[in-house]
Amino acid sequence: MATALSDLQRADAAHHLHPFTDNGDLAKRGTRIITHAEGVYLTDIEGRRLLDGMAGLWCVNVGYGRQELIDAATRQMTELPYYNSFFQCTTPATIQLAELVTSLAPEQFNHVFFTGSGSESNDTVVRLVRHYWATNGEPDKNIIISRLNAYHGSTMAGASLGGMKPMHAQGGLPIPNIVHIDQPYWFGEGRDEDPEAFGLRIARQLEEKIKELGVNRVAAFIAEPLQGAGGVIVPPASYWPEIQRICDEYDILLVADEVITGFGRLGEWFGSDHYNIRPDLMSIAKGLSSGYLPIGGVIVADRIANALKSAGGDFNHGYTYSGHPVCAAVATANLKILRDEGLVDRVRDDVGPYLQAGWNSLSDHPLVGETRGVGLVGALELVASRDPVEQFEDLGAAGTIVRDLAIDHGLVMRAVGSTIIISPPLVISRSEIDELVEKARRTLDAAAKKLL
Ligand SMILES: *Cc1c(COP(=O)(O)O)cnc(C)c1O
Repeated sequence: MATALSDLQRADAAHHLHPFTDNGDLAKRGTRIITHAEGVYLTDIEGRRLLDGMAGLWCVNVGYGRQELIDAATRQMTELPYYNSFFQCTTPATIQLAELVTSLAPEQFNHVFFTGSGSESNDTVVRLVRHYWATNGEPDKNIIISRLNAYHGSTMAGASLGGMKPMHAQGGLPIPNIVHIDQPYWFGEGRDEDPEAFGLRIARQLEEKIKELGVNRVAAFIAEPLQGAGGVIVPPASYWPEIQRICDEYDILLVADEVITGFGRLGEWFGSDHYNIRPDLMSIAKGLSSGYLPIGGVIVADRIANALKSAGGDFNHGYTYSGHPVCAAVATANLKILRDEGLVDRVRDDVGPYLQAGWNSLSDHPLVGETRGVGLVGALELVASRDPVEQFEDLGAAGTIVRDLAIDHGLVMRAVGSTIIISPPLVISRSEIDELVEKARRTLDAAAKKLL
């Protein structure tokens, strides 16, 4: 078996197809191989230390190397490595997680359906929403409205709900009866307008779309409280109250995709708490287990759970690994860390505002057109000129240059077009935030020499 860097890279190129990657190009360059991690730092195979400004893929909320999670997995594996929740069975670990998750969720939620990932959660949403309206005697109420540039995962239904054009271009998507309206991306699509007027105007597209399709056809609206993979798009304050009003007025189910915003990222347990919205379903994954093992779920409001229970009949849907006991035990241990160490309040009251202040200090940089963020997510827009604002002709090239330079400066950030984003572990300290901001500034200085 390969162990040395060059052997591993050769074996990777020969045998491993990477997700969301130009695999031909990667085979020529060689992949970056991460071998260890502790706290907020990664170590690669060459011994280079990187501050993980992305918490893996937005998921390692409690940071790397937590012994409690290792112990929980070991204990559960020893006792019962697997059993399922089909056919009138389940395991104690699964029940305990269901109890804990719903106790943390807003009051309308008392049930959870477990999945193995965020994508599977959103597939479950499609099945649940349509099944709910059908049991309600409205089988034609089956269209789900989503948003362009939303990210809801990569399975057939997840990618269809998502509004990523390059994903739809492969594999014949979207599946039927999913339609998209615009996103509330002020910097990218509304700069000439007052931000709050823009937020209202974009929210009202939902109302127009419902009227166009017919109230009796529209089942649900799904959205991330704050778009993550689309580029940390923070909606104007006017947006969510108007969306909530419209969903209430037309009796459209509101689905919050909380896969990133759940479990503390915005300084509340859920993004829905931060934005004061009352969803009927919430998709979860990522921070649920801090990424230590794969697990997700859909948290289901009483209105829907009780209707399905009283309608009777099977819900013909589920996964072999729904409620997997080892994943559930690790998720429970993870949520207890978040709860008992007060990490969510710490994001809201301490490190969140501290990160935002540091990140916003980058807004004076000649390459930066805007900084934004909430809690422990942030974004900045790279621009060719600040006044008047001019974006780079090749958005992707500018972003990639900054992302790669960040690695040279010991920092992992991500590029979405020319938007640079961060989402560090919730356990990050103030001095580590100082380091993150300083490394980001030095990265921008180096990038300015290439780009301006
Ligand atoms: C990551 C993500 C998903 C998909 O989760 P997977 O675990 O990768 O399937 C869905 N929705 C949102 C908002 C996400 O960020």
